[in-house]
Amino acid sequence: MKIALIGNQNSGKTSLFNLLTGNNQKVGNWPGVTLERKTGILRTSTAEVIDLPGIYSLSPYSNEENIVRRFLLEEKVDLIINIIDSTALERSLYLTTQLYSFNIPMIIALNMTDLAFEQGLRIDVERLSTMLNVPIIPISCLKRTGIKELIMLITKDTPTITNFPSLYSQPLQETIRKVAELLPIDAKEFLAIKLLEADVELSTKVDLDVNESISQLKAHYKLGVSEILANERYNFIEKIRDEAVSSREKPKLLTDKIDRILLNKYLAIPIFVLIMLLVYFLAAGPVGMFLSSLVERGFAALNDALANFLVNVGASPWAVSLVVDGILTGVTSILSFVPQLLILFFMTDILEASGYMSRIAFFFDRIFRKVGLSGKALIPFIIGTGCSVPAIMASRVIEDERERKLTVLLTPFIPCGAKLPIITLFAAYFFPDTTGLVSASLYFLAIIIILLTAFVLKRVFYKQKYSPFIQELPTYKAPNMRYVLRDTGHKTWSFITNAGSVILFASVILWFLLSFNWKLQYGVAVDKSILSDVGRLFSFIFYPFLGTNSWAAAVSIIQGLVAKEQVVSSLSIIAKLSGGDSIFNSPLFAFFTPASAYAFMAFNLFSAPCFGAIGAMYQEFGNRRTMIKALLLQTIAALLIATLIFQLGTLVEGLL
Ligand code: GDP
Repeated sequence: MKIALIGNQNSGKTSLFNLLTGNNQKVGNWPGVTLERKTGILRTSTAEVIDLPGIYSLSPYSNEENIVRRFLLEEKVDLIINIIDSTALERSLYLTTQLYSFNIPMIIALNMTDLAFEQGLRIDVERLSTMLNVPIIPISCLKRTGIKELIMLITKDTPTITNFPSLYSQPLQETIRKVAELLPIDAKEFLAIKLLEADVELSTKVDLDVNESISQLKAHYKLGVSEILANERYNFIEKIRDEAVSSREKPKLLTDKIDRILLNKYLAIPIFVLIMLLVYFLAAGPVGMFLSSLVERGFAALNDALANFLVNVGASPWAVSLVVDGILTGVTSILSFVPQLLILFFMTDILEASGYMSRIAFFFDRIFRKVGLSGKALIPFIIGTGCSVPAIMASRVIEDERERKLTVLLTPFIPCGAKLPIITLFAAYFFPDTTGLVSASLYFLAIIIILLTAFVLKRVFYKQKYSPFIQELPTYKAPNMRYVLRDTGHKTWSFITNAGSVILFASVILWFLLSFNWKLQYGVAVDKSILSDVGRLFSFIFYPFLGTNSWAAAVSIIQGLVAKEQVVSSLSIIAKLSGGDSIFNSPLFAFFTPASAYAFMAFNLFSAPCFGAIGAMYQEFGNRRTMIKALLLQTIAALLIATLIFQLGTLVEGLL
């Protein structure tokens, strides 16, 4: 048996899929696109469950919608489980009414019943089921209720009902029926409707002229066919809502009240700025720094102990240096930022889970539209505070191709978790009294640069057009701590494993290139090493914002391509090998001033991202040329911004 799991985005599809299939899952890709295809075996049975992408309708406008259409047309599906968000019943049922036209047996999983209850919504499930003529099981993936009943219904008593209620008024229904009869294939009703809607994709594939019917319908209803269909579906849904749903109280009352302050025309942006300041103050300011310094001290002790141990057991000097100056210095210089990242990830997850991020994204929609970006771009930008790779992939929520590509180009500008160490390291040393503020200022600088770049690119290349913000806004709610902790843990863990793999490997290579000269003699001074010569070749590029030719800074910046964490790792290792006990004690980095420090942070923030993110950009752009153009644009922008900061900063320093 083949079961298709279909529903809106964020309806809880993934959660339900996991509950239905346990660990019995296979992940692949849908043909031709980079969307994940997940299949699994239903618990206690042999039925195959396919998790289809989240969609709102069956028009051919997005990859997701196309995949679902094609799947339902081409594969023999025995049962659809239509998952519905009970707090967004109308939007969910809009999809249900479209699924009717495939005439495939259906079960509705009415999810989020816990939330509906909290919001005072009362849904008469029996009435709803009768009106839709579909079996319905109320569930909550969060509280794990109703799942057993759902599985039992699927396995024991496979529903065969396909005589769904008739949705449309008589002339429309009659026309659909007539066209459907002329079609030789399955899914007649769906195809008939799409032909009447003059669907761009299917009209060219099915050889049937329905122009006459379309004109008659238009004449009768004085509307286009798509509008007639949408109207009548919504009429049907409204009737159902009026009869099956009641509410104890006005559910959005609290949210409306909170919005009056948080999304107020004048207050929204200052409040957003304050919240982000607080986030950075806690993560990069005194609290985060204190916790990081504890970890750092622990690592320093470990470093010493290990060095003593190695010397005592008679290890050769190069081995001690490799382990202590190379590997340990490289890896621990990054791991000591874990407490700060934990705070950052935790706070942004709370903001997301409370519903605030979605609502402020809606507010930003107006501003983003002015510069040719969709408000939905804020979603990748928010995810980007963790890591650019999933953020770049999240740009798929944007329908319009150009806006999507623009978002892919701009997402790496957001300071990701790996860039935070660079920022806090320099901010703490050069701006000890205002570390949190200076760190946050880079976040705001990123937003300003994103808006400016989008504005300029729109003027130069693109015409105005935008995808509307259709995401139904979640209400404010107390964050689900299980979700927040899991997500924070997940992000932090991937940072740690990165340090244990990529950074460790890079540290060994770096140590080698810093400890040997071209004749492969060990123990040379670092500025006679192989790497120093390589750095000298490139150092001129960074002269405009460092004010000096520094091979050591040059090689550190370039290693940011491997991973942005590697910049700090590299600075630490070079400092250690040059005899300094910390980065800013090393003569090699004595040239840094507050101005060049800020410029250095900005350059690392805006220049080409790490290889992981570059790979994601390539995937999303779909071709190498666009990707290379984007990387060049980012790096040139970074160079210009950093130089401007350095020159202005030096001017100010001169005046003080
Ligand atoms: P998908 O986008 O449809 O795959 O949805 P997910 O499974 O990723 O769920 C989206 C969000 O809704 C997550 O934060 C889930 O924790 C949450 N969620 C899923 N099911 C429920 C539920 O029954 N009740 C509540 N309160 N939240 C849920």
